[in-house]
Amino acid sequence: MPSRVGDLILYAITVRLSLTDHQRAVAERLLTRSGAAGFDELAALAVDHERRRPPEPRWSRPRPPRPAVAHRSGEVVLDAVLPAASGVALALTRRQRLSLEQLKDGQCVDLSACAGDGRHLSAARSRAFHGINPSTGASLWSTAPHTRLLTIVADTSPGHDLCFPPCSELEYWEHSGIGNHLGCAELHAVARASFGAGHAAETDDVLNLWLPSAVDGRDGRLRSWPAACRRGDVVQLEAERDVFVVLSTCPDDLFGSSQYEPGPIRVVVSNGTSERAAASRPRRAPELPPGWPTAPPPSAVARHQVAVVLGDADRDHVDRIAAGGWLGTSRAAVLRALMFRLYESSRTAR
Ligand SMILES: [Zn+2]
Repeated sequence: MPSRVGDLILYAITVRLSLTDHQRAVAERLLTRSGAAGFDELAALAVDHERRRPPEPRWSRPRPPRPAVAHRSGEVVLDAVLPAASGVALALTRRQRLSLEQLKDGQCVDLSACAGDGRHLSAARSRAFHGINPSTGASLWSTAPHTRLLTIVADTSPGHDLCFPPCSELEYWEHSGIGNHLGCAELHAVARASFGAGHAAETDDVLNLWLPSAVDGRDGRLRSWPAACRRGDVVQLEAERDVFVVLSTCPDDLFGSSQYEPGPIRVVVSNGTSERAAASRPRRAPELPPGWPTAPPPSAVARHQVAVVLGDADRDHVDRIAAGGWLGTSRAAVLRALMFRLYESSRTAR
């Protein structure tokens, strides 16, 4: 309903935000810290904060669209969905292919790998060979004596990250003061343990799939941005030897790397045989490996609804950001992102 102030007719709209447990806790913390009278005022502060930020050069053009359906070949031995905020370990034999597919717009996945002799992924060695944003043709190398573990053989997205460690419970606690927020580090540790102590080496070396990253030329610090990949983006890796792979759908709902909404991904393992050979074999439904998670933890589900009233000027600004797509395409997704970007700035400023 429009309201009248003097000669002006104002049109306010209601935006309904969906928040996870941790997001709601942080939003309430931000409410207290900002001194806002309620979520309507907090939303206005978040929009104003974004309006005053310098423009992000990476976002000067609209976010790339969804890709065409990717080609996939070979006999499929696993085709499963890994739920949000979940970890799993897989054993691949040499020449098997692992395809990971976006089921939403912008879900990061942390991948680590380990050979049977205990040599695990070396992010340092891999980025020394291929840079910090590897894509098709780049290999994931092991610790010494160095060997290729996996090679990216197809990739519809612009690149991934070899700089950042996996997110961790400690990192979330330091950011929000809220405990019990598992990170990829904890999800990987549990998944690694499922293969027994011989393959449970602790490591902070991961490939952060779909995470845009860069080294800031001014101060050498690392930067990352919310994942820009789209539903349907696929990265395919081929095993260069028998290898254990650990995957986690990043549970980040506070820093924005997964667009503030943890989601699932599709995991396909194929034997990499030719399509003709695969077609000649009898088809059977692949079975899920034991222990494969089938539902996300409740904490990763956005189950708290918060209704926020936006004035027309703020609505227009949110709509302009949504049109670019980099922080989501709906008013609710963008406004949620702006609130947590305000929270991040308020922490940095202290
Ligand atoms: Zn993570």
